[in-house]
Amino acid sequence: MGHKSGFVNILGNPNVGKSTLMNLLVGERLSVITPKAQTTRHRTMGILSGDDYQIVYSDTPGILNPKYKLQAAMMRSVESALEDADLIIYVTDVVETVSKNEAQLTRILNNEVPKIIVVNKIDLTTQEELEKIVAKWEEMAPGVPILPVSALNRFNTDMLLREVIECLPEGPPYFPKDQLTDRYERFFVSEIIRGKIFETYQKEIPYSVEVEIESFKEEPALTRISAVIYTARDSQKGIIIGHKGSMLKRVGTGARKEIEEFLGKKVFLELYVKVEHEWRDNPRVLKKFGYL
Ligand code: GDP
Ligand code: MG
Repeated sequence: MGHKSGFVNILGNPNVGKSTLMNLLVGERLSVITPKAQTTRHRTMGILSGDDYQIVYSDTPGILNPKYKLQAAMMRSVESALEDADLIIYVTDVVETVSKNEAQLTRILNNEVPKIIVVNKIDLTTQEELEKIVAKWEEMAPGVPILPVSALNRFNTDMLLREVIECLPEGPPYFPKDQLTDRYERFFVSEIIRGKIFETYQKEIPYSVEVEIESFKEEPALTRISAVIYTARDSQKGIIIGHKGSMLKRVGTGARKEIEEFLGKKVFLELYVKVEHEWRDNPRVLKKFGYL
């Protein structure tokens, strides 16, 4: 048999485990995972190569009805993932109902591209309940393979990999076989900081923030990084910084450790907070942040 390759795009509602699943399939922590919905903002590629195959996964932001221009831009990256797929993995879980976002789901199911429906988080349910859920999906998507998994417990994920390879067309590799992603280190560093912000603050704050790497200098003994945290309102700046800088310090220490692990090197990290008024609705700023 020849070499197989293709683009496998991971779609689904927010918080079903798309990023967890992609990281697991690729074997690297490429996408930020948090318990909060809408953590993933950009489409991010994760490439898995074997001797006779190359799978180019794309993790996408969850499907939602846009409120801000930012979210509209996030949805365009979901749209593009519908257009260039050789295979779509539609991720759902045992918590959400089959009818959530039905209109979007119908569009995806009507798309001619081959699909696999993955029912994630089966660790949270019983065999009996799971059978009912799978039956509902079979009714909703006749003929589409349905695979129950637990990304958390790595249950059935090897099976998913085999199924994906099975579905891919024959073709040459698209990327060098040792390449893991289409993004640069800087992107992942800013995502790690954003992930820490999601862990540290409540409510609106994580959703109102964008992180930009201002400088990234590699020195022999360490990497010097300075990053700006942009907020949408003046009032948020104080919350981010905290009393005598305590909150920002917490973000900085946590992020630095994770970045050191990611880069395999000592890191000196400086964080600044700036206000970019209502940036989520400002096309100029969205462009600067890489959304448009
Ligand atoms: P995404 O928004 O679809 O990318 O979802 P994430 O990958 O960010 O995961 C959302 C939440 O679900 C996180 O708290 C994950 O730890 C959790 N999660 C992912 N997979 C599983 C699973 O198989 N079982 C359970 N119980 N939780 C999971
Ligand atoms: Mg995600």
